[in-house]
Amino acid sequence: MNMKYFSKVLLVLAMISSFALNATAKEKVYKWKLAMTWPAQLTPLASPPQKLAALVKEMSNGQFIIEVHGKNKHKAPLGILDMVKLNQYQMGHSGSYYWKGKDINTLFFTSMPFGMNKDEQTAWFYYGGGLELMQKAYAKHKVYSFPGGNTGVQMGGWFRKEIKTADDLKGLKMRIPGFAGEIMSKMGVTVTNIPGGELYTALERGTIDALEWVGPGMDIKMGFHKVAPYYYTGWHEPASEMQYLVNIKAYKKLPKDLQAILTAAMKLTAYDMFSENFNDSVNAWVKMKKDYPNIKVKDFPRPVLKQMKKVNDELIAKLEAKGGLTKEIIESQRDYLKKSRQWTNISEYSYIKSMNELEK
Ligand code: CA
Repeated sequence: MNMKYFSKVLLVLAMISSFALNATAKEKVYKWKLAMTWPAQLTPLASPPQKLAALVKEMSNGQFIIEVHGKNKHKAPLGILDMVKLNQYQMGHSGSYYWKGKDINTLFFTSMPFGMNKDEQTAWFYYGGGLELMQKAYAKHKVYSFPGGNTGVQMGGWFRKEIKTADDLKGLKMRIPGFAGEIMSKMGVTVTNIPGGELYTALERGTIDALEWVGPGMDIKMGFHKVAPYYYTGWHEPASEMQYLVNIKAYKKLPKDLQAILTAAMKLTAYDMFSENFNDSVNAWVKMKKDYPNIKVKDFPRPVLKQMKKVNDELIAKLEAKGGLTKEIIESQRDYLKKSRQWTNISEYSYIKSMNELEK
């Protein structure tokens, strides 16, 4: 056979097949499913995944489609981690502290009582080693975890009666989940876990005496201000960050451009949730104060806070004694809080303080 002719044919064949490969690579549509803990209407918590799906579709020119399922569809609001781990869903949107019973190291990545505020914690995640520690904690669950939207500081909750001393907390029935619930329980509070839909009735009928939810933007829809006039300022969730979960195998199967699109869309929609929630709270707070002038905003008395802080420190010391990754996360958060708070104090805090004094 004429070798020259043969190599020409081979070259043409190679060109055709590479063209065909490119064409299939371009046409292949990646279809994922995302399960979130919330119902689709529960914005702004449910906003990031829905905005993410729209963004990813547009940025990939329709090559990457993410179908978002709310809790009414998958019926497992607290099963998100397992479903993403098993690749039943390639992505999830939830809160890291929901998995603390399964794995204590996941507790620290939502918000810790008396911990960092939103600016401090966001800087810790992206530039202070937080994200790396979070991936370390989630590696054994075969998922990546990313910041998924911050509520900012959450309010301390709605109380039917004023809290003047630590004794006023004793025997109180309160809905307050997570690590803060453990602290309240040590303060003598009977901590209950009532589903969101039943909270208003429980508070109105006196089945519970107090509850915490999020802040004005989300609380106003629940109507708590109509039945419990004391609105306490926050201490227990100073910067609750929601969480995106991504199945590692599924992520690795994506072409590089779609990986970049997904990563960018997660960061953008997480950032966006903070602004949406902030704006909701701005408007809700104006409306609440106008419609219900009886609402009384209170800080917990200093001695009460001091006692809560003491209980918090004892519980954290117990966790730290476990050593390993738990200790590493606690130390990292403690160090970053300590150094970043110095900057917060002379920047944001000093600015607000000075401006408020000018208004007096
Ligand atoms: Ca809360």
